[in-house]
Amino acid sequence: MRITKIETCVVEANYDWTIIKVKTDSRMVGWGEAFVAPGLAGVAAEFNDVLVGEDPRDVDRLCCLMRTAFGSAGTASMGLHAISGIETALWDIVGKSYGLPIYQFVGGKYRERVRIYADCHAGQGLASLSPVLLPRTPAWMSEKKRGKKAELNPKYHGGQKSEASAVKPGAYARRALEMKRRGFTALKFDVDVPTEYSLDDYNRALTRREIDLMVGLVAAVKKVLGKEVDLAVDCHWNYGVNDAIRLARACEPYDLLWLEDPIPPLNTDALKRVTLGTRTPIATGENHYQRHQFRELLEREAVDILAPDFQKVGGLLEGRRIADMADMHFVALAPHNISSPIGTMASAHLCAAIPNFLALEWHAAAVPFFEDLMLPRRSPMIQNGYLTVPDRPGLGVELNEAVAYKYRKRGEPFFDRPA
Ligand code: MG
Repeated sequence: MRITKIETCVVEANYDWTIIKVKTDSRMVGWGEAFVAPGLAGVAAEFNDVLVGEDPRDVDRLCCLMRTAFGSAGTASMGLHAISGIETALWDIVGKSYGLPIYQFVGGKYRERVRIYADCHAGQGLASLSPVLLPRTPAWMSEKKRGKKAELNPKYHGGQKSEASAVKPGAYARRALEMKRRGFTALKFDVDVPTEYSLDDYNRALTRREIDLMVGLVAAVKKVLGKEVDLAVDCHWNYGVNDAIRLARACEPYDLLWLEDPIPPLNTDALKRVTLGTRTPIATGENHYQRHQFRELLEREAVDILAPDFQKVGGLLEGRRIADMADMHFVALAPHNISSPIGTMASAHLCAAIPNFLALEWHAAAVPFFEDLMLPRRSPMIQNGYLTVPDRPGLGVELNEAVAYKYRKRGEPFFDRPA
């Protein structure tokens, strides 16, 4: 069997979902998904020159070739997003050609169902972000729902400055109750919200009143969730060491599942100071690539919970290696995931196959067509907070191309149709 073509489409959802299709001369195709980046379809297309004519079942060797091709050391991040998506598509082909589901090729199942935690963002509905993280209105949304052009707020991932007054504990509590009723056993909310109490957008400082407001959001959600549902919170790399510790300590009475990315991802020793400075568990990982970057986090004991994104770390096999390394340090994985059903299912196969798995993110609760993108359609894909991994060969789901076309991003190629 030989690879004949790598093609992509981009679905415009809450993020750009870049879907990879690897075609072969046996008419078998593989599906994967790559973590968002500007111009990613072009990067994936370049790998045609590397992979066409190769046997798609030589997964690890082909990833080595792609990493080498994309800068000789293979450390350039965007290339790894594309490689991750292509790697999943290769596993889909391996699974289909041997008649086995992907989880069998990354160790076999520890569990039938994968625990999902729902990302609830900042308590509101659909928030859609461009590849440069600017708030946007997707092309498929009606004109009357479109807002005016947004301004990037450096202190708030995915929001507008005008939203400060919209952040209310009541809205958080209502969203939490809705998701609890849907059966989730773990939720995550953003606490790095725009506030009226911020004195500076750039200095990574938190005022006392900001911390009080953030803790008020946590308290409102915990009151609704009780002891049955776990709560994690996300800070999107916004704060300095000292204020991150102040915030984490203020959250200690609420027994969070974790506090995510309190400081920027670039300094492991600084993160270690935060982790050692509080009883609140600290999580990071969605900005790290390949096993080498995770090795530093683990060996320096800088983190309590690891959150790699399998659509960007370099592939599912790379994810398995990261999980093994974390397990040697008795650290659990709560993988980051902002994907369509294709990437979510790929991550679920790996989550079923690693012992030290805690919960997998699901970020698409507000995307109305999420399940429509899958064939066969599974509705709901996530039941009572769990995703059952299918036993069908490969990924076990295909992309519904007609639905993907309806929600496609304009100006991007749609598989064999050019942009
Ligand atoms: Mg995060």
